[in-house]
Amino acid sequence: MQSLDEALERLPARVAPLGQLETLSTAEALGRVLAADVVSALDVPPADNTSMDGYALCAADVAGPGTVLPVAQRVPAGVVGALHQPGTAARIFTGAQIPIGADAVVMQEQCEAVPGESGEGLGSVRVNAEVQSGQWIRCQGEDVRKDSVVLTAGHKLDAAALGLAATVGAAQLTVARRPRVALFSTGDELVMPGEPLKPGAIYNSNRFTLRGLLQGLGCEVVDLGIVPDQLDATRAALREAASQADLIITSGGVSVGEEDHLRPAVQAEGELDLWQIAMKPGKPLAFGRIFCEPLAGVPAAPQGGASRSWERPGERLGSWFIGLPGNPVSSFVTFLLLVRPVILRLQGATRLAPRRFALRADFAWPKPDRRREFLRVRLNDSGGLDLFPNQSSGVLSSAVWADGLVDNPAGAPIALGDSVSFIPFSEVLS
Ligand code: AMP
Ligand code: MG
Repeated sequence: MQSLDEALERLPARVAPLGQLETLSTAEALGRVLAADVVSALDVPPADNTSMDGYALCAADVAGPGTVLPVAQRVPAGVVGALHQPGTAARIFTGAQIPIGADAVVMQEQCEAVPGESGEGLGSVRVNAEVQSGQWIRCQGEDVRKDSVVLTAGHKLDAAALGLAATVGAAQLTVARRPRVALFSTGDELVMPGEPLKPGAIYNSNRFTLRGLLQGLGCEVVDLGIVPDQLDATRAALREAASQADLIITSGGVSVGEEDHLRPAVQAEGELDLWQIAMKPGKPLAFGRIFCEPLAGVPAAPQGGASRSWERPGERLGSWFIGLPGNPVSSFVTFLLLVRPVILRLQGATRLAPRRFALRADFAWPKPDRRREFLRVRLNDSGGLDLFPNQSSGVLSSAVWADGLVDNPAGAPIALGDSVSFIPFSEVLS
């Protein structure tokens, strides 16, 4: 058995980022992984501007509350005012550039407009407050400096990142293409929702969970449905999958029971490492490669390196393969912890590990497993964690009820009030 940490180091390192890139309009790039740095050609803001509606002036012209200054100009947002004349004020509105020469803004709530004689012109303003130089001014470049890198290659683009790219004027972004992931479930007991549940059957839940997880990670899913527990059918499904996908994900059939055909099927169609990972839920995990051309045509793979790619340029000879356990919670948890980093790596993402947080356990776990455990827990209103009462790997209700996982070291009991390591689902679902 290998440790989860070993697996987490080895598994993503085996695959290399997909070569092909795409250029998308910034609006379409949500969820994609950036393939080239975004460098700003400008300062943001491009010039000093006001963060308040009010009056721009020189702080030194305000001797104290009650000072009256003539209003020399009116500067709405989007308009560049004239050079500021000392001893005057400019009526100004949020977002407008500060006229050159002015150094402060007084918010309109602290001012009183004094109409001009016969109501003509812009009149004057009485300033009813002390004024500090620089107040209510957003300085040129305070957000982004010209020529700085605002987003680095490998950044997964969320809504805020798209906004930042747009802020610096990036109309298009170069991103990794979507990984194509083929998915199938094995098990003669499985039927699809909408079909009658014959005796001995269960509904196929993994197909929905895994498909949803893949979609959440920005994959194009090739859903091959349910494959019967037969060697030939499993081999055919693997070949079909490998002809279309970068990665094949399966659920079930990876144990070493008589009805578990994935192992021999993968060995026949490619190569397999069967990994027993010391974690609960989720012990068996199969990792390998499926060839979509006869092995005879395959040049010898270079040993070791991350790019152990025997693909010739422009030619696809196969797919990566990850076989997940059949138990619904096991496949869910192993996907989040082990498949997600592989998919992120295919996309060229740089941050693979989820963040985790030290939180208080409002439960006890007196009989820990000998393996490292991932417990389904929920955040409570007092900032602690509650435990789902049934932690069996078949109980999918626990995954819906929970907000995340407690990563509990092997053999470590948890006492009420202990600090534990919490991985929120929000960290691993995209
Ligand atoms: P296996 O890994 O094939 O031995 O399956 C382990 C357990 O998970 C068995 O109880 C299966 O019935 C169940 N299981 C396997 N695949 C699925 C699936 N797609 N949806 C729901 N349960 C499954
Ligand atoms: Mg099975």
